[in-house]
Formats: sequence, C-alpha cells, structure tokens
Amino acid sequence: MLIFDRQVALKEHLKSISYPKTTIGFVPTMGALHQGHLSLLQESLQNNTITIISIFVNPTQFNNNEDLAKYPRTLESDVQKIKSLNESILVFAPKVDDIYEGKTISEHFDFDGLENQMEGAFRPGHFDGVGTIVKRLFEIIQPTNAYFGEKDFQQLQIVRKMVEKEQLPVNVVGCHIFRESNGLAMSSRNERLSAHEKQKSAIIYQTLLDAKAKFGTKSAENIKEWVANKFERETDFKLEYFQIADEATLLPCLRKSKNRKYRAFIAVFVNNIRLIDTISLN
Ligand code: AMP
Repeated sequence: MLIFDRQVALKEHLKSISYPKTTIGFVPTMGALHQGHLSLLQESLQNNTITIISIFVNPTQFNNNEDLAKYPRTLESDVQKIKSLNESILVFAPKVDDIYEGKTISEHFDFDGLENQMEGAFRPGHFDGVGTIVKRLFEIIQPTNAYFGEKDFQQLQIVRKMVEKEQLPVNVVGCHIFRESNGLAMSSRNERLSAHEKQKSAIIYQTLLDAKAKFGTKSAENIKEWVANKFERETDFKLEYFQIADEATLLPCLRKSKNRKYRAFIAVFVNNIRLIDTISLN
C-alpha cells in the first residue's frame, strides 16, 4: 500500500498513473478512522479507478487549542484499517508544514452566509479553515469525485458552495451517517468517551428522532423549547445548540414552508467532548 507524506511525491505518482479515463475518488479525513470513514472509502472504491484518502488533522479549523491537542492521532492503526479494506487505496498523510509551508493561517471565504449559522456561530473561523484545507487538497489531488459525510452537513453544503463559487472541477458526493448500534453517530471524538458516556450519548440521536416525529405537528420553536428543557434535566450533558434549519440556506426555520427541506442539527458537550449530529426532517 502506498503512503505519501509529501504532496510533491503524491502529485508525481498521480501523474504517472493517470490516463484519459482515470477517475480519482477522494476522501478527506482527520484520521482516527471508524466505519463512517470506511463507508465513504467504499463509495469511492465502487465509483472510481483510483481512491485516495487524506489523513491530516488540520490546525486552522480548530478554534480551541485543547481540542486540537487532544484530537486522536492514530496513523498506524488507520493504515491497517485502510489496508484491510483495499490495498490499492492511496494514503496522503502530510505534515502541517508540507501543506501550510510555514504559514498556518486560513484564507477568508464568503459562503453566502452558510458559514454564519450553527457550527460557524459557535466555532469562529472554523469554516475558513475547512475551506482552506479542502481547496488545497483539491488542488493537489484534483479529484473527479470527493466524498463527504452528511454528519457534518453544514460542512458538506459549504464545500458544495465553494466548488460552485470557485468553479472547481470536482463532483461533491454526500454520504449517509454511519451510527453505533445505540444510534450514536460515529465520530473520532467518540474514542474519548467512557463506555458509560458512550451508552448515555444515545440520547443525542434519540432527541433527533423525537424532533422528527414532532415536526409534522409542532412548530420549530416549540420543538427547540422541548429539546432545551429536556437537556436542562440531563446533568451529564451540556446542550450547545439545537436548531431546525432549511437544508439549502441553513437559515433557522421560522415558519414551515411546504416546498422546502428541513433538518435538525444538534451540538452537545459530554464531559467536555463536543459531539454533533443531524437528521433530515421531511
Ligand atoms: P473527519 O475525520 O471527522 O474530518 O471526517 C472525515 C469525513 O468523514 C467527513 O466528510 C465526515 O463528515 C465523514 N464522517 C465522519 N463521521 C461520519 C459518520 N459517522 N458517518 C459518515 N461519514 C462520517
């Protein structure tokens, strides 16, 4: 299996194996791989000649130094997981300097306001960091198709917006959320939860399912109040936000409109570990 830690070497290799009909499927990740990441890789393997995964904990998208320092880095076991899935997958695991060349700062983007909601509101600068790294990785790899999880739905919409605005020649594919058996969305951060916390965190997805059930008859405001009250009583959890928003604009749903699609979004702290999840409502 080929592992590249420098962009120059990866680019050279890609040049040597690209033919007119070659399609490159790309899965960007920050490592600590789980089944969710592997399902993105499977989707890419089925639809492309070449599949590349990047493993890079991108410093510019962290607005909290502790979160960046504690983010799990498990390259060896990641490589084993990729190898067991398919040995032909190319791995790009660069060092920070290879990507940022001494200037670890973000480019500033205008995502037509998508960046101001939810994750953007609570994590200042986060989406500039995401835009910066995704654009750089797209420039290096020049993928035909790029795979992103719906778990980070706002990120998925922001990447789509960047591709549209900057007219990048890549097809962005959204992939469904992979969950633990208790419904908890798989996440690299789950590794930091104790078994007990993991089990209790089933409440996050359960809340989304309940919100979906209520959405047919109750207003968004009413559901938000219900969720806030529910988490007031849960001392192990701190609700950062629960929002019901339009899928395309990500603006809060003030009044339901029949021809719009809506989604619920949630961010919760469990013992200082921040977990997010989302569900389509209609
Ligand atoms: P991350 O390593 O957290 O940056 O995630 C890399 C990619 O995997 C992103 O596109 C995520 O949305 C996606 N992803 C993360 N968790 C899941 C999951 N549970 N199911 C599906 N995709 C996921």
